[in-house]
Amino acid sequence: MEKKSKPTFYITTPIYYVNDVPHIGHAYTTIIADALTRFQKLAGKDVFFLTGTDEHGQKIEKAAAEKGLTPKALADAVVGRAQDLWKALNISHDFFIRTTMDFHERGVQKLFQRLLDQGDIYKGEYKGWYCVSDENFLAEDVPADKEGGKACPDCGKKAIVVSEETYFFRLSAYQEKLLAHYAAHPGFVRPQSRMNEVASFVRGGLKDLSITRTTVKWGVPVPGDPAHTIYVWFDALHNYVTGIGYDWNMPLFEKFWPATVHLVGKDILRFHAVYWPAFLMAAGFALPGTVFGHGWWLKDDTKMSKSRGNVLDPQAILKTFGPDPLRYFLLREIPIGQDGNFSHEGFLHRVNSDLANDLGNLVQRTLTMVRNYFGGVIEDPEAESAKDGRLRTEFEALKNRVFGLYDDSSLNRALEEIWSYISDVNRYLAEEEPWILAKDPGRRKRLARVLLQAAAAIRGVSYLLFPVMPGSAEKIWAFLGEEKKPAEILYPEMRFDDFKPGRKTLAPEALFPRVDLKTFLSEEIKVGEEVLAVIEKAGRGPRIDGGESPVPGVEAKKEGMKSMDIITYDEFKRMDLRVAHILKAERIPGATKLLKLEVDIGTEKRQMVAGIAETYAPEDLVGKRLIVIVNLKPAVIRGVESQAMLLAAVVDDKALIPFFDREVQAGAVVK
Ligand SMILES: [Zn+2]
Repeated sequence: MEKKSKPTFYITTPIYYVNDVPHIGHAYTTIIADALTRFQKLAGKDVFFLTGTDEHGQKIEKAAAEKGLTPKALADAVVGRAQDLWKALNISHDFFIRTTMDFHERGVQKLFQRLLDQGDIYKGEYKGWYCVSDENFLAEDVPADKEGGKACPDCGKKAIVVSEETYFFRLSAYQEKLLAHYAAHPGFVRPQSRMNEVASFVRGGLKDLSITRTTVKWGVPVPGDPAHTIYVWFDALHNYVTGIGYDWNMPLFEKFWPATVHLVGKDILRFHAVYWPAFLMAAGFALPGTVFGHGWWLKDDTKMSKSRGNVLDPQAILKTFGPDPLRYFLLREIPIGQDGNFSHEGFLHRVNSDLANDLGNLVQRTLTMVRNYFGGVIEDPEAESAKDGRLRTEFEALKNRVFGLYDDSSLNRALEEIWSYISDVNRYLAEEEPWILAKDPGRRKRLARVLLQAAAAIRGVSYLLFPVMPGSAEKIWAFLGEEKKPAEILYPEMRFDDFKPGRKTLAPEALFPRVDLKTFLSEEIKVGEEVLAVIEKAGRGPRIDGGESPVPGVEAKKEGMKSMDIITYDEFKRMDLRVAHILKAERIPGATKLLKLEVDIGTEKRQMVAGIAETYAPEDLVGKRLIVIVNLKPAVIRGVESQAMLLAAVVDDKALIPFFDREVQAGAVVK
């Protein structure tokens, strides 16, 4: 008899740029995929989870050349950063694809050839504005600046005009087909608001897409025309088919294709919701079920970026907390489509309040009582009261709701529901007061009943949490003396009553560390103190608003070393130091070291000139919060009046401004 085949679920993350140091944004996508994977397995599906790295393109070529390595050697040297992080985060992917794998390159070439043969790819000439950094031609509607040049709307860098022979993909032929697909499958792009954006972009007209470069050598060569390299996006997107076996393990490919969910950041939604389905239609493949565009994590309300220096390294958090608190925080804090704000205070609050207090305490308390009062084995409970029974009925209803929410990728709402039940269990214990019952030998059976209900509820809760916090769920199950692991029990088979009297439980260990904010922030504070120390060393402090040359601050530093002037407190008090917010920043024509800033000092706006252009790009400064002296006599520098002065350390002739790492009102007094 043939075994009935299980329904399949195939989920992907984008392949991450191998040379990027993986940050919280990469971790977020991968954690979502992992939670959905684990849930769908509990739901009885045959799941495949693919992630990996994009290893081709000009940026890798350049970075490798700078290090004297071949691009492949560079990729080999750094790919472990992502792989190690996934391990530390307890990610359970089935395959990690690298676009330098030979079967991937062959698959891409084969599909390219097929599309070329059938006329969906043709050779032509492309001329356009090109961002070298992003390896991307700018959209034609990007406006020109005053000098007639164009800046990349993504990274702000200057674009160059590139004209080259190229192969085009006949995207224009797919406009109506894409619109028809969107109309027939309103869930193709999630959230809904992004579906509307994508459809309106397509309705605005699609031009054919240049998909090869002659300027880039590091990539998959066009079959039969190796002067052309297949453009990274055409190359990278096809990992979703080659990674599941296309052209090298066709039974696997046929089993899992099409993908159920492609998880992507909202910034790459267009590639996935327009170009990718068009490539697939051309190749005759079925289209994926959903392209889910998630939001960005901001750090203290600012977008994380390398140039801002506020990229959050998840490794630091993992070192202190292990994977589950971070997994929980990222999935609990926001629905998948929205932007989230990562602050250390917010993270710590969730860990201390939700995890250590609500959940950790419940487990610890209950199992300690089971141990102290029953030697670890609950025996002979009395019959259930209506109130005892409510924990079971509530759990069974909760289980169904959570199932629906997980299935809909509404992870944050599933967690809210689970926590509301955790509160109910805590309330039950508070009302039944087992510690009072324990004092009365005549109420031993009642005590057994209360602890049995609580233990069964804890087992149920940790089962429901398993997709999000697999490590903690397994630990709790082990404390409960459960022989199986949560992953071995299918959702419909999970029952409250499977925790029965007579089972031997273990002494619980602490599940979540309690960390106070000061310790948690100490690394950041250390960095801050180093900056201050440099300022102090520089004596009266470098004047960064100085002239063009010599480098501002350097003279001051030497001078300050020789004789540190002592000033009185009253002299210090005469300085009016305030918190300022940078509203605008621009270069001053002809002055390579100076930036003109417009700052909000609370009571008014001020213009200032600062010798910081070698350290900061104007676009990186807007929105930053820093300290300025506002009662200094204005000076005219390069014809521009400077009405305030900022504080900065000077390290290797570069000015480094101490910025506040959290929201501080403009005009706040510094003393
Ligand atoms: Zn760019």
